[in-house]
Amino acid sequence: MVNLKYIYAFVFASLAGWAIFAYITTTDIIKNQQQYAKVINKTGSQRMLSQKITLLAYRFYETRDKEHKSHLLSLYSLMRSEHEKIISLYVKSDVTKALYFEKPRQLNNKVEQYFKNVEEFIAHEELSLLYKLESSSFSLLPLLEDAVNVFEQESKKKVDLLLDRELFILVGTIITLILESVFIVIPAIRHAEIHEDKLKNLVKERTLELEKISVTDQLTKLYNRRKTDETLSFEMERAKRSHGSFGIIMIDIDNFKKVNDTYGHLTGDDVLQEIARILSDNVRKIDVLGRWGGEEFLIVDNESDPDKVIEFAEKIRSAVEKHKFKQVGKVTCSFGVTQYVEGDTTASLIIRADKAMYAAKEAGRNCVKEMLA
Ligand code: GH3
Ligand code: MG
Ligand code: MG
Repeated sequence: MVNLKYIYAFVFASLAGWAIFAYITTTDIIKNQQQYAKVINKTGSQRMLSQKITLLAYRFYETRDKEHKSHLLSLYSLMRSEHEKIISLYVKSDVTKALYFEKPRQLNNKVEQYFKNVEEFIAHEELSLLYKLESSSFSLLPLLEDAVNVFEQESKKKVDLLLDRELFILVGTIITLILESVFIVIPAIRHAEIHEDKLKNLVKERTLELEKISVTDQLTKLYNRRKTDETLSFEMERAKRSHGSFGIIMIDIDNFKKVNDTYGHLTGDDVLQEIARILSDNVRKIDVLGRWGGEEFLIVDNESDPDKVIEFAEKIRSAVEKHKFKQVGKVTCSFGVTQYVEGDTTASLIIRADKAMYAAKEAGRNCVKEMLA
């Protein structure tokens, strides 16, 4: 039997697997993405810084104001340190390396050249150097613009990759769930349902068996004393309500002790079983037949006419008498018959049947005697 607990655990583990995969792959991309936002910002500022530095150089040249010069110097050192950061941290892909280090653009060289021009101008403060600085600043601008674009392109590629990964994870998870449902979960549930049905049927069968055992006499397979008693009470209640009547026949095997003494207890058991079979073969479906005691049987005959009950008892008596028992040969029974009358209790009814049966014994056995109320 497939244990559903393991199925649930398997499905959960596969989903958890997808979730972990999703976390690892997307976190990496998202972290990268944050780096891209930074570098795009930094390259944008480089552009602005280069323009400001050139402008301040002009101002300083015109005014000779020391403040302009110190401002220029601080912007220059900021631009330089930012440039170094960009090179060491962000210029890693083939495209960015080509932009910064390879011909024709060689942005790194151009920036270094620009820095050199700034340094020269600061050192000598000459107009020709200012022009040189301005011209290198102009050639730098479109390249820094390119750098922003390149980093933006790379960032966009990563976003596309993230979307692709998300789609892959979504499709993968759905396919996993569908496959697990079709090949594992549904068959397992079906299997469990079938198993449950089988168990239910087994329980039903066993319950019926137990019910049968609880009302059956093990040796003769007739109703046992408890069930016979119960049925007798039930019939009495019914007769009371309907103001009807019924007959009972008490049957006792004649000289049964002698059978045991002569042939042994096991043969005695066989005789009990054979008699039970003769009785079963002769009673009708509406009659109730049970083993009353050791070698005594009781029939509740649903017949309101006492003569018919006697007739029925006589028929059984004759069947037993005619039967040839294995080993023992002939066995007879004595029959006590009585009829239910209003006011009877089970005890009074049984006592009368017993008395009738003893009367049959006294009359020489193998006969039917009746005792009416
Ligand atoms: P009577 O004609 O007066 O009824 O004589 P009896 O010998 O049949 O009556 P008694 O009451 O003296 O003996 C009944 C015997 O039935 C005694 C007992 O050992 C035997 N008996 C009761 N139950 C069983 C049983 O299940 N199997 C066997 N083999 N014998 C049983
Ligand atoms: Mg007896
Ligand atoms: Mg007897």
